[in-house]
Amino acid sequence: MSSDLIIGNGLVATLGEENRLIESGSVLVRDGRIEAVGKEEEIKALSPRAEYLDARGGLIMPGFINAHHHLYSTFAKGLSPHDPPPYSFVEILERMWWPLDQALGEEDIYYSGLVPLIDCVKKGATTIIDHHESQNYQLGSLDQLARAAREIGVRSSFCLGVSDRYGKGEEGIEENIRFIKGVQASPAGEREMVTGMFGLHAAFTVNDETLKRAVDAAGELGVGFHFHAAEAASDQEANLEKYGLRVLERLEKLGALGPKSLAIHCVHINEREMDILKATGTAAVHNPESNMNNAVGVAPILKMMERGVEVGLGTDAMTSNMLKEVQLANILQHLAEEDPRVAFCESCQILLENNPRIASRLFGVEVGVLKPGAAGDVIVVDYRPPTPINEDNFLGHFLFGVCESPVDTTVINGKVLLSKKELVGIDEPRIAARSRELAAEFLKRF
Ligand SMILES: [Zn+2]
Repeated sequence: MSSDLIIGNGLVATLGEENRLIESGSVLVRDGRIEAVGKEEEIKALSPRAEYLDARGGLIMPGFINAHHHLYSTFAKGLSPHDPPPYSFVEILERMWWPLDQALGEEDIYYSGLVPLIDCVKKGATTIIDHHESQNYQLGSLDQLARAAREIGVRSSFCLGVSDRYGKGEEGIEENIRFIKGVQASPAGEREMVTGMFGLHAAFTVNDETLKRAVDAAGELGVGFHFHAAEAASDQEANLEKYGLRVLERLEKLGALGPKSLAIHCVHINEREMDILKATGTAAVHNPESNMNNAVGVAPILKMMERGVEVGLGTDAMTSNMLKEVQLANILQHLAEEDPRVAFCESCQILLENNPRIASRLFGVEVGVLKPGAAGDVIVVDYRPPTPINEDNFLGHFLFGVCESPVDTTVINGKVLLSKKELVGIDEPRIAARSRELAAEFLKRF
C-alpha cells in the first residue's frame, strides 16, 4: 500500500534557491518529506497509486512560517479593558496581557492552543514559533501547547517567557529546561514537529541574576533564546535606568544573543544595536500589525537588512495569516519612509526566504521550500493568474494577487489537514464550543 500523496494539477512555485515556477506541476510527498517536484505526468508516473489532491489550477507552494506567535492570546478575543482604555504600551501589558496570562489554567492553555492552530491550518501557516506566558500555571504549561500542536498537526516551537515581574523567574527557567529536555529526548521525527527554545519575556522584566541563570541553562542545552526586544521605548528607558545599558547591549553582555536566538520587534534599537545583531548572528523578527496596533513605532527593518541582519516575520498573535502580515510589512514601510519604492522585495524576503532559514535551523529539517528532502508542508492557494506570470514577476503576483486569495489546501508533514477549504479530521465546532465554556470561567478570574 502506497502512503504517497500527490498534490497536482496546479502552478508550482518551489521557492528556495531554485525558485522555479512549474506549469501543470505536481509535488509528490512520501513519509512526510517532499520526494519529487515536477511536471504532472512525470510525478504521476513515479507513484501511480498515490493519493491525489487536485489543486484545480491553483498555486501549489510551500506552507508559510510564522516566526513569532502567542497561542495563549485566544481568550483576548472580545476582551478589552475600558474606563479608560489603556493608553501606553506598558498599560496595555499591565491591564490586558498580564492579567490575561495570570488567569490561564491547564485546560485554558490547551484550548487557547487548539483554536489558533486550527486557524494556522486554514491560513496555510504550517510552522509557528510560539512564545508562551501563564504566570500562575508555568510548570507543565508547554506540554499543553505541545499536546494541542500534535493533535492539530502544525509544526511548532514552544518556549515560556521567563519573567521576574511576579517573582517567578526561577520557575520559568525550570519549565523551559524541563520542556527542552523532553523535546531533546524525543525521536528525531517528533523533534521535527515539536521543538523548543528558551523564552524570556523582555529585558525590562528579567533581572540580571535570572538572565545569567537562563543563559547558563540554555548554553548547556544548546538552544537559543526567544525574547521581546525594544518593542516600545519604555523597554530601552527601563534598561538604561536600571542597568545603564541599552536592551541589546545588556543582552549581549550577559550572553543571550547568538545565531540560534530571536530578538522580537527591535522597534527602538539604534545603529549600534543593529551592529550587535549582525555581529552575534541574532535574527530580528518584525511584527508590523502588532506594532501598528500598539502604536509603538516602526521597526527599522530596511536599515537592519542593509547591515546584513537576518530579519524574519511574525504576527505577535494579531493573526495567523502570514499573507495579511506580509502585505502590512510592505505598506508600513512605504508610509514610514514616505516612499512607495521601498520594501517590496524586503517584505517578500522576510517571509519567503528568511523565515524558512530561521525555522529550518530550529526544526532540523528544511521548511519553506518544495524540493526533494524538504518537509512535506505544502499548500494550495486559490490563485489563478489573470496576467502572464514567470519567475521574474512572481513576487508582484504574490504580494498583490496571492495575498488576496484564500488558502484551499494545507498539508503538513505529508498529512492533509485542509482540503477544498474544509478541515480534515479536526472538529472545529466542538473545540470552539469548549473554548467558549472555558473562556466564560476565565472571565470571572480576569
Ligand atoms: Zn510577542
